[in-house]
Amino acid sequence: MQGKGIIIIIKGEGEIGGSGHQQQQQQRWLNRTTSLNNNAKATMATVLAMAMAMLLLFYSSSTSTRITTPSTTGTADEALSISDADADADAVINLDHGDPTMFEPFWKNAGDKATVIIPGWHTMSYFSDTSNLCWFLEPDFANQVRRLHRIVGNAVTHAHHIIVGVGSTQLIHALLFALSATDTRHPVSVVSAAPFYSMYPGITDFLKSGLFRWAGDATSFKVNGSSSFIEIVCSPNNPDGTLRRAVLSTEAGKLVHDLAYYWPQYTPMRSPADEDIMLFTVSKATGHAGTRIGWALVRDAGIASRMVKFIEMNSIGVSKDSQVRAARILQVISDGYELPDPDSTTSFFHFSRHLLADRWQRLRRAVEESGRFSLPQFSSEFCEFTKEHTETYPAFAWLRCDDESIEDCEGFFKSMKVLTRSGRHFGAGSEYIRISMLDRACNFDLFVERIASLGLG
Ligand code: PMP
Repeated sequence: MQGKGIIIIIKGEGEIGGSGHQQQQQQRWLNRTTSLNNNAKATMATVLAMAMAMLLLFYSSSTSTRITTPSTTGTADEALSISDADADADAVINLDHGDPTMFEPFWKNAGDKATVIIPGWHTMSYFSDTSNLCWFLEPDFANQVRRLHRIVGNAVTHAHHIIVGVGSTQLIHALLFALSATDTRHPVSVVSAAPFYSMYPGITDFLKSGLFRWAGDATSFKVNGSSSFIEIVCSPNNPDGTLRRAVLSTEAGKLVHDLAYYWPQYTPMRSPADEDIMLFTVSKATGHAGTRIGWALVRDAGIASRMVKFIEMNSIGVSKDSQVRAARILQVISDGYELPDPDSTTSFFHFSRHLLADRWQRLRRAVEESGRFSLPQFSSEFCEFTKEHTETYPAFAWLRCDDESIEDCEGFFKSMKVLTRSGRHFGAGSEYIRISMLDRACNFDLFVERIASLGLG
């Protein structure tokens, strides 16, 4: 018995109505189709029905996801309207990582201006600019880096080479290699004043290199005759937001200035930094941590070449697609300031500083009401970028548990379902914790509510 065949018409080369040869092929295919036995047809029908059902399921679930999932970019009010109070009380709030999702609303609002489309045949070569010492640096990204530093006034760039890296994390690895002598039996000591960024020890010792090793707090490090050291100076400092200078003499040692947070949303711009080695990252400048792009400004061509060598060996360059995206992001920020009449939706640093100021005010109020904790205080200073006196609003709150009944501050917050990072990871005591100020509004709002509730009763 013959049943109806199932014909799938694929437009293009095999479309019905083509050349005589094509028609013959199609007729043969149709004959084969109609001679399928009933079992095969039943199987095909079942497969098709299942595929349709899965498509419908996928469509309906993705539609309902869009309706019911809390907006990742919305305000706290939007988030609360779709989650009931019980769910909020149970929610674990993760403020351990400095994930900069707070900036999402700005970029959502920027829309097409910040959207990048890369044709399939673009960015295929390994090479970006073979005339440049850093041959994998995209020229447009380099131009936008120099342009943004000029507009903001946070770093001089004219005498420096730009080395791009997979985040500034890769650039720290590259620098440790570039700054340590390969012909010595003694590894160079790497130090930073406590409390220091918790990743410095791990980055230094992860591969148990014979070239360098972590030697802890710079303030207790004894400079020993001719032996060399590398001091990493993070300013403003992660975790406590303070402005820093090197604590050791620079004659025997080499300095790396990690300026990830030297941007106007976090701190007033005093003057352009002009250090020999400076590190920046889009993760903290614009919030695009997932793009994984950082850059080093390096005065010395020899050091810059050794960094390039490291990156060649480590990853044969840095994603051009990411550099293209980062260039566009930086361009949007700079364009926002070079327009004659900037407003809050085009002025990235003003927008971000406003959000951080509001968060810091609310956190300080809640902490004060709780009567159990304290936060660092910062004096306001004149900002050469905004041309007004501004406060410091660090990316992290370095909170101290003053309540002596609390031995382990991190554990105390964990019992309130708030994940933070203990001071112990930063070379400090367990009475301190680091709390990210850069998370989404819905999480930050819940966190402040929980602290405020400690003061009640
Ligand atoms: N330095 C400091 C001080 C940081 O806080 C961070 C990110 N937390 C980094 C470097 C690394 O940033 P990334 O690799 O995302 O560029």
